[in-house]
Amino acid sequence: MNEIAALLKTFADTHGMSGYEDEVAALLLREMEPLVDEVRLDTMGNAIGIRNGDGPTVMVAAHMDEIGAMVSHIDDDGFLKIVPVGGWTDQTILGQRVVIHGKDGITLAGVIGSRPPHLMDADERKKMIKIKDMFVDCGATSAANAAELGVEIGSLITADRELRPMANGFVTGKALDNRAGVVMMIWALRLLKGKKVRATVQAVGTVQEEVGLKGARTSAYGLTPDVAIATDVTIPGDNPGASKSESAVAAGKGPSITIIDAAGRGVIAPRSVIRWLRETADSASIPYQLQVGNGGNTDATVISITKSGIPCTVIAVPARYIHSPVEVLSLRDLEQGARLIAASIESAHKYFEPR
Ligand SMILES: [Zn+2]
Repeated sequence: MNEIAALLKTFADTHGMSGYEDEVAALLLREMEPLVDEVRLDTMGNAIGIRNGDGPTVMVAAHMDEIGAMVSHIDDDGFLKIVPVGGWTDQTILGQRVVIHGKDGITLAGVIGSRPPHLMDADERKKMIKIKDMFVDCGATSAANAAELGVEIGSLITADRELRPMANGFVTGKALDNRAGVVMMIWALRLLKGKKVRATVQAVGTVQEEVGLKGARTSAYGLTPDVAIATDVTIPGDNPGASKSESAVAAGKGPSITIIDAAGRGVIAPRSVIRWLRETADSASIPYQLQVGNGGNTDATVISITKSGIPCTVIAVPARYIHSPVEVLSLRDLEQGARLIAASIESAHKYFEPR
């Protein structure tokens, strides 16, 4: 594994459900420390690194949280009922291995189970099993035993998957949404190390994106940058079941620049921002794809409407099977995305004035 893949593995294998991003934040602050002038953690838990310059302020936001679940009930036999936190879907989580984060940092292995198919009648077998009918089995034999093992109401559940390389520079793992963005942000700072850069960089690992874009909202308000780039993953249309007419973006063909998210209900990138990023990519010979999103939102949505408005868009890595424990992306896209962010920070002063 090369260096950027190893960094992605470190971040993707770390657990940090929405609202509980502390381990990821600590890792990020450690990585950023030698690359910036100042690091801090804010009240919400956003991890902030500032690199000072005398030009415009450029915020780079990367959400640190991953989707997961929380224990809401422990039955008499020691099985755990869960409430999903973020976008876990019924068909992706059944049969998965999970980590249960119990009291005092205790972790236990578990699996997500359901009624055995062998006991189902023909009609029942045709139906999709819902999360509410699933449970987590951690080997506990009773509610009291689960408590002894450190499991309680409110214990966190995250996917148990380690990043693995695949053919042709692809990798698969959990939480590539959005540790890919976190790694792009760090890698961009590394590329800028020792270079004279006019812009002030505000690199922010944001919290609670998957449950309402919350950390981006508060950190953008506090930092009030002149311009911002959110880094995330995006949905390609290149695999069976998706079509190129639904998303023109393909994994392995370069990072994407978002023109609009969620059919315009999300961010609508100002023309000035698109021009900045496209001209920068062209002059640095970085391949890119344009994304017209019809689905979800990103941190850019809330950053763009912070205070009196912040010009903003998204640079994303196309990732297949987003919100499953087997997300897939191309390391080349990740590296090119980081190069595009770094080059854009270097050119920002030509396009934007300090406020
Ligand atoms: Zn995301």
